[in-house]
Parts: sequence; C-alpha cells; structure tokens
Amino acid sequence: MTGHEPTWPTGTCIACGQLWPCEPAVAALIEEFGDGLPLAAALWCLFDEAAQALPLASFLALYERCVRQPLRARGAGE
Ligand SMILES: [Zn+2]
Repeated sequence: MTGHEPTWPTGTCIACGQLWPCEPAVAALIEEFGDGLPLAAALWCLFDEAAQALPLASFLALYERCVRQPLRARGAGE
C-alpha cells in the first residue's frame, strides 16, 4: 500500500485524515487490482476489515463507504 492505512475506531486515514478508504488508497487499489472483479474483491476485504473494526456501524453505511463509493469513483473517470 501507500501509507494510506485506516485508523480505528475513527475510520480515518492515518496519512491524510480523510474518511477511509481515502482517494489515494482507492487509487492504489485500482492500480494494483485493475478495474474488474479483483478490485471488487479487494474492496470487499476493506469492507470486512471495517465491519470487524466497527461492529456497531450500519451495514449499509459501511457498504456504501467501502464498496459502492470507491466503485463509483473509479467509474467517474470513464
Ligand atoms: Zn489517505
């Protein structure tokens, strides 16, 4: 990774302070995994990590934040 790692329980990036996963972290994942299913799988791993770190958080909110929003961001450049 790029040094952009989450801190829990705040759920913000250790490097830039944005809400995790921050833009640089998502960009690094896209670079590493490409644009298709491997990226989605990697985002699900993030989601899993977040869900374990934040057991009281809403499933939908975490899903939106860790999976849907990064996938949308990826699509925005097309
Ligand atoms: Zn960051």
